[in-house]
Order: sequence, then C-alpha cells, then structure tokens
Amino acid sequence: MSIRVRFTIFYTLILTGFFLCFGVFSYIIARATLLTGLDATLENTAEQVIASAEVFNQGDITLLRFPEDMDVFQTATLFMMAINEQGEVLAHSSNLEDFDGVLDASTLTTAEPTFSDVSHFNQPIRVYTYPLVLQNSDTQIRIGYLQVAQLLDSYYEALYQLGLVLGLTGGIVFFFFLFLGMITTRSLLRPLGEITAVALQISRADDLGRRLPDDGRRDEIGHLTLALNQTFERLEKLFRNQQRFLADVSHELRTPLTTVRGNIDLMRRMGEYDPELLDIIQDELQRMTRLVGDLLLLARADGGSLPISRLAIDLETTILDVYRQVQPLQTEKNVQVRLGQLTPMRIIGDPDRIKQLLLILVDNAIKYTPAGGEVLVSLARVGNTAVVSVTDNGPGIDVQHIPFIFDRFYRVDKSRTRAQGGSGLGLSIAKWIADVHGGSIRVESKLREGSTFIVTLLAVPQAMTSEASPYDYDDDAEDLVEGENTAVVG
Ligand code: ADP
Repeated sequence: MSIRVRFTIFYTLILTGFFLCFGVFSYIIARATLLTGLDATLENTAEQVIASAEVFNQGDITLLRFPEDMDVFQTATLFMMAINEQGEVLAHSSNLEDFDGVLDASTLTTAEPTFSDVSHFNQPIRVYTYPLVLQNSDTQIRIGYLQVAQLLDSYYEALYQLGLVLGLTGGIVFFFFLFLGMITTRSLLRPLGEITAVALQISRADDLGRRLPDDGRRDEIGHLTLALNQTFERLEKLFRNQQRFLADVSHELRTPLTTVRGNIDLMRRMGEYDPELLDIIQDELQRMTRLVGDLLLLARADGGSLPISRLAIDLETTILDVYRQVQPLQTEKNVQVRLGQLTPMRIIGDPDRIKQLLLILVDNAIKYTPAGGEVLVSLARVGNTAVVSVTDNGPGIDVQHIPFIFDRFYRVDKSRTRAQGGSGLGLSIAKWIADVHGGSIRVESKLREGSTFIVTLLAVPQAMTSEASPYDYDDDAEDLVEGENTAVVG
C-alpha cells in the first residue's frame, strides 16, 4: 500500500472519527434536552390540573373534584386523566373519549411522581404519573393519581431529523476528507514521484551529471532533494576519479612495458646481450614494481584494510634515519641535505608509515632540486603539534598546480618528472599517511625559489615525553610497549 493511500486513509479515519464522536455527543445532548423540555411540559400541565381541582371534606371522606372536563389543558398531543386508588378513571380530557383503561397501569402504585414510556395504538407516549395525596391533620392519604401524557412522535421525529442530518453530514465529511486527503497528499508527495523518476533516469542512463530539479523549497522534500543532489555530485566525482585513476594506471603501466618490450625486441634482433639495454629494462621494472607497490598500498588504504599501528614514535630519530637513508641519493644528485633545528618530540602512530611520509618528501626535494641545491629538514613544536618541514631551493611549484599537487598521478611537468622516476603517487600517499594520523600536510612554494612541505602531527604532551613509560595516550595505549617507539631506528 502506497504512503499516499495509507496517509489518506489514516487522515480520513482520524478526522471522521472526530466528527463521529462530535455527532454522537451532539445527538445525546439534543435527546436529553428534548426529553427534559418534554418532562417539564408534563409537570407544568399536571400542576395546573391539580391547581384547578376542588377538595371536599365530608366527615371522614375527602372528595377531590376535577373540572368537568380537562379540555382546557389538553392539546392534540397532550392527554390527562384522574384515577382513583382502585384504578377507576374519574375524569379525563375529551381527547381520551375513545380510550379504555388507564394511560399507564404499571405506575399506579408509585409513591413518587414518575415518568414512564408506553405505547398505545402503536404510538409512543410519555406518561407522567403524579400521586394525589391529601394532608389530613398529621396523616397523609393517597386518594388516586393524575396521569398526564404526551405523544412522543414529534420527539422521535426531531431525533430522527437530527440523526439524519448528522449521518448525512458525516457521510459528506467522510468523502470530503477522503477527497481532501487525496488532493493534499498528491500535491505533497508529487515531488517524491519526480525525485524517483529522475533518480531512475540517472541510474538507467548512467548519467551521473544529471541533478534533481531544485525549486528552492526548504522543507523536508527540499532537504531530500539537496541531500540527493549532493550525493549524486559526490558519486559523479568519485566515478570520474575512478575513471581517471584507471586511465592513469593503464598509462603508467603501459609506458614501462613498452620500453621493456622494445628493448628485448632490439636485443633479440641484434642477437646479442647488451648490458646498457638490460640496465634500462631493469630501471623500468624497478619503476613498475614501485608503482604497483604504491597502487597496492593506496588500494588497501581506500579499502580500509591497511593496518596502522599506534606506537610512540621519536620523530627526531625517524628524521635521522631518513637522513641516513637518502645519503646515496644526495651524493648521486649532488644536492646537500642538511638537518635544521630538531626539537625532540614524540607522536603516536605507525613508525613505518611516518618514515615513508618523510622519505617521500625528502626524496622529492632531492629529486626536483638541481645539482648544487640544498634541502633542509627541521622539526619544531608548535603548541601541541609536531611540525616537520622539508625545504628545498629547487624549481618551486607554480601556484596553479598547488591545489592538485596531492592528487593521485598529478605531476607538474609530466615528461620531466617521469624521467626522474616519479609516478605522481608519492604526495598522495604522503597525504593519506598524514590524514590517517590525524595530521595534515601542505606546501608553500615560490616559482624558481623553492618549496617547503610542512607536515603537522599531534605531539605527545611534553610532560609525558619526559617520562620513559608507555603512553596512556589513546584507546590503543595498550599497544604501546616501552622501547617499541624506537623500532624505526635502523
Ligand atoms: P612523483 O612521483 O612524480 O614525484 P609526487 O606525488 O611525489 O609524484 O609529486 C607530484 C608532483 O609534485 C611531482 O611530479 C612534481 O612535479 C611536484 N613536486 C613534488 N615535490 C616537489 C618539490 N620538492 N619541488 C618541486 N616540485 C615538486
């Protein structure tokens, strides 16, 4: 059952229910009011009839005489009769001429004035029975009854009319609410239908560039439209990134493969072993191995399956370790790597990954700085963060490239950087490592003057650094075993 039908039924039932309660209540009140009015008429008439009666005392006998006829009080629907204790009719209004017996025999023993409903000639009648009592010195003698009756046809007619009006109005109200519910829910839910239609078109046509029409409404539907459009936008971006990434990967793999195949073909045609060509093949295979390794790392990082240990890391030691490791490269490139101020500091993280991050930055700095250049690595504490900066006086990065420098496969000068062995994945891996440690990475650069890559990581508070005990630093503190924080030192 659709939301629309459910909502309409619910809405109609609730409103009709309210109306029904109101109708029943009105009916009960109206019936009580009519009956009270009717009873008051009967009581008044009885009082008037009694007032017109005459009392005679003859010795011990008391006689009550009613007017010859009671017609002055009768109406077409109002009857009355006086009855003695033996149940004989003493007097009655002339409209009871053809009536035999008493109006209601069942109440002729009552001591109190009583109302009763009877039926004569198939007509409902309300009877008021009033005991006639004579006060004689201190004794009371009941000498008979006065019965005043009223036809109930107009009373029932009035109730019938009221019931009819209420019933008809109830029916009209039910259908009106049903109609109103349908109209309102249709207009309320129409945008949902449109959203579904467009969403289906998007998925059928694989057209993630399409967006739901936003008519500017800021209610729940408007928010849903906005949220879906944002989701589509994100999906489109992810999809495009995925496509670009695949194209880049294929391209990056094809180039070394072509080189390897070409060189093998060449050697085969020459029919001899050429150490120079073999060196090229080896270089390309190394590059490919590195690329595949980086790709695997990023894929596992994306899939969340890359474990990140949380150990205490001595950053100064890690930097010294990186410094030692890049010695051969700096000699080969004739770029001098210097260590600036290194403030002893510890962070919590994965020692291998942090070292990898610093290696990428120092390696890049050496790679892109021309011979004779200089690279400076320093470590400082700023508030509760550890700031590692790697500064070079190389070519710098044009401001237009800076927003994309950490994107996968992004390279400023594709052909030149490739020749230097770069695949464009280093900085994206560095950024992932910084992010996964809750830190950040950014670059400040001036063209032809050099670049500074700045990594900010949450430092272990100074007070704790002085203690040589494992850090109770986060949920994973139990992972920290004294001494393990120096695991990165080779
Ligand atoms: P690559 O493997 O090409 O070095 P990276 O992701 O590490 O990939 O770097 C992306 C691009 O950023 C590089 O291709 C290079 O153009 C630029 N770059 C990175 N570091 C430096 C630097 N220190 N100086 C100048 N350009 C740099």
